[in-house]
Amino acid sequence: MITRENLIYSASAAARILGIIYGHSRIVVREWFAVVWVWVPGHRPRFMSKAVFKRHFVERRKAAARALRVTQHIMDSTSFTVRNEEKGSTYIVQTVPAGLICQCEDYRNQVQFLGHGCCKHNYAVLNHLGFNSLSSYLNAAKAGTPIGALAA
Ligand SMILES: [Zn+2]
Repeated sequence: MITRENLIYSASAAARILGIIYGHSRIVVREWFAVVWVWVPGHRPRFMSKAVFKRHFVERRKAAARALRVTQHIMDSTSFTVRNEEKGSTYIVQTVPAGLICQCEDYRNQVQFLGHGCCKHNYAVLNHLGFNSLSSYLNAAKAGTPIGALAA
């Protein structure tokens, strides 16, 4: 279950970062004030930087976004259909000046627990529009750049 505590600082994320096959060992992860405490049974507990987990969170979504196909809507240039050919799933992403909105569970969880979100579908649209990060999109939106026109 996704909670505020394990959305970013999860045992599975720790396993991926450390290169450990998750499921083979019960990794215990605790978010502390400034760091993350990680214990892999059989090893000494260690502290890991929150920044490492945050970067992993973003990079994982950016990597997954590369496999998605983005189609901009003709009648509404702020709307995009993002399709995962492998899974056969489709999500609609809406661009607004304050960011990108998606219907998926990951996006909803991020908004609920972090107050804002950027899922792999959003990153796929950002790529499609020529942005390599959410902040570069937000800066362009703040400067009044017509976002939909960038894709053309
Ligand atoms: Zn999404």
